[in-house]
Amino acid sequence: MKTPFELGKSILQRLRAEGHEAFFVGGFVRDRLLGFSTDDIDIATSALSEDVEAIFERVVPTGIRYGTVTVLMEHASFEVTTYRTESGYYDRRRPDQVTFTRSLEEDLKRRDFTINQLVMDDKENVLDHFGGLDDLKTKTIRTIGDPKERFEEDALRLLRAFRFVAKLGFTIENNTSEAIKSHRNTINDVAVERILDEFDKILHAPYRKHAFEAICETQFHETFFGLSKGIEILAKSTTKYSPLAAYTLLFYYQPKLFDTFKFSKRTEKTVKTIYAVSKRLKDDGVSERLVFDEGKEQLLHADDFLKLIDFPSHEKAIRAIAASLPIHTINALAFNGDDCLNTLPIKRNADIGIILNQLVEDVITGKVSNQYETLKARAYEINDSLQGVRKGEKS
Ligand code: ATP
Ligand code: MG
Repeated sequence: MKTPFELGKSILQRLRAEGHEAFFVGGFVRDRLLGFSTDDIDIATSALSEDVEAIFERVVPTGIRYGTVTVLMEHASFEVTTYRTESGYYDRRRPDQVTFTRSLEEDLKRRDFTINQLVMDDKENVLDHFGGLDDLKTKTIRTIGDPKERFEEDALRLLRAFRFVAKLGFTIENNTSEAIKSHRNTINDVAVERILDEFDKILHAPYRKHAFEAICETQFHETFFGLSKGIEILAKSTTKYSPLAAYTLLFYYQPKLFDTFKFSKRTEKTVKTIYAVSKRLKDDGVSERLVFDEGKEQLLHADDFLKLIDFPSHEKAIRAIAASLPIHTINALAFNGDDCLNTLPIKRNADIGIILNQLVEDVITGKVSNQYETLKARAYEINDSLQGVRKGEKS
């Protein structure tokens, strides 16, 4: 089976055979030169989309307005984009005008950073118009052209600079960094969906701490949606933490987090739960009951969050209890609700819930073993005492 890279080369060759120029471009070339493999392959070509559609059998018009089509080949897909320039950035968001061009250099000039404009041909020769190879060697993030102009055109690039720090562990070059500092307010004009998208990538990337440090050095965080305190902590933190714990931290210091950014309902709910769980963990410490109720994963996120705000970690205890819990759900009880109904002199249906809950407590704390006969005997006792209490109440 051919690799996506080999299939991509065959696309370049087909385009060339039809008289067009075509190169691998962008993140794929950068990452390949750094030794990472990715199947996310972008191709730049002098051919127009309609030419590309005529040449290949399976083509999806994914972004015709911007000159992009997706070419499908065997199991792989490729974004093939006509050389283009961009002008008239509306509201620092998206270019409101795209012009196709015959010049590769023109196309490369509109790209954000020198390391993102390298191109590779089908023989794996690399072309470098703006010093990207040197910057790869010295691990430098540098805009193509005047950084101020480039950030004025598109403020999302401010955050993209940090994203590549987070992904690659590179350093932002001085002029670029100064321009980020002077233009930091303009990020507020960018659509929040795009901001969250980049921010989330930063939080998931291996060098995120470097990125948060760079964010603080440029004071970018100060005007970034009230997240400055949380980001400062992330820049300083030496503990490991999950992205969900980081969002909990940001939410803790900025309760409007979910009003500003549209997270998925699920993420929002999880973060709010982790926050609530962290309070239980902080106030009461770890217990079998807490691990049973909240689950190991949720508690570990809560523990990560507490570590970030300097509370001692309960991680060992959480893991030890989770590993030793005899049951993890109420359904795992060897004596269930039906068994209660069928074998006990139950007076009120609501008592079943109370009995099962007590059985859970007794099993997870090791008072009784999770065996049918043992639990049945214990259930009798609980039921008796419930009815005893009720009699006492009446008299
Ligand atoms: P990743 O591997 O993280 O996807 P990437 O470099 O492929 O990184 P993309 O966001 O997929 O990043 O963009 C593909 C290419 O398009 C970039 O390498 C860059 O050349 C160009 N690009 C993307 N967004 C911008 C932008 N806002 N301004 C200028 N060029 C951009
Ligand atoms: Mg990409």
